[in-house]
Amino acid sequence: LEEQLRQAQKMESVGTLAGGIAHDFNNLLTAIIGYCQISQLSPSADEALRGNLEQIMAASKRGAHLTQGLLLFSRKQSSERKPVDLNEVVVQVERFLQRMIGEDIELRVECCRDALPVLADAHQLEQVLLNLATNARDAMPTGGIFSLATSLIELDADFVAEHGYGKPGVYARLSVSDSGQGMSPETSRRVFEPFFTTKEVGQGTGLGLAVAYGIVQQHEGYIQMYSEPDKGTTFRIYLPLLVGGGRQSRGATGARTPELV
Ligand code: ADP
Repeated sequence: LEEQLRQAQKMESVGTLAGGIAHDFNNLLTAIIGYCQISQLSPSADEALRGNLEQIMAASKRGAHLTQGLLLFSRKQSSERKPVDLNEVVVQVERFLQRMIGEDIELRVECCRDALPVLADAHQLEQVLLNLATNARDAMPTGGIFSLATSLIELDADFVAEHGYGKPGVYARLSVSDSGQGMSPETSRRVFEPFFTTKEVGQGTGLGLAVAYGIVQQHEGYIQMYSEPDKGTTFRIYLPLLVGGGRQSRGATGARTPELV
């Protein structure tokens, strides 16, 4: 429990620091891109200069993309949260994910019958799935299985005490597993840190899971990771269920949208 708390505090301070830096950098990059655009329009700019300005803009835009990631991680990004069914979010991205992971990896999707209404920014949840899928693909270079499963789960006081996280309540859970190479204990400890990567330069930014962590936090949820070398990795995401939702459709043939309170 102490370790969990220490980790949460560390992420909090890294997040605050990263958010501050990202915010300032974003402003700087916006200024650089703006001046490049003005300079390109100047009649005295020749072909070579225009080319160089193009390069500066391209690099600045890559930088801006990274700072966007940091802002997401640090929760400084605004999000538009609406009631959405987690099952629908999963179904929406299914085809895209299959294309992204390629044909050698089998995608398995298992949505529970319960409706899973959550207050969420669907685009941000898609971003989380995309980041997890990118890592899963990289962890299975010779193919494997990538599975998504949803469920309705109650975290009771015993669960909280046992796992050392969470507030008791009813949650929509999304499990994301791969049968890939897994991680060493050292990597496992650091995966959610911004800029932590084991990938080669140019292959990874180390922001994918930091962003996922930030988004889930912002949704007042929890993300947990279990990994075993050579076996695979599972992420579990818990999002608070919208009050009054979900349970009444248990046992029905199709999930129906419960009343949202
Ligand atoms: P990046 O993918 O850019 O490296 P991430 O934050 O997404 O950044 O991941 C950080 C590191 O965590 C990866 O470099 C990798 O070592 C490890 N990792 C993440 N997901 C998985 C996975 N599904 N299987 C094995 N290792 C993983």
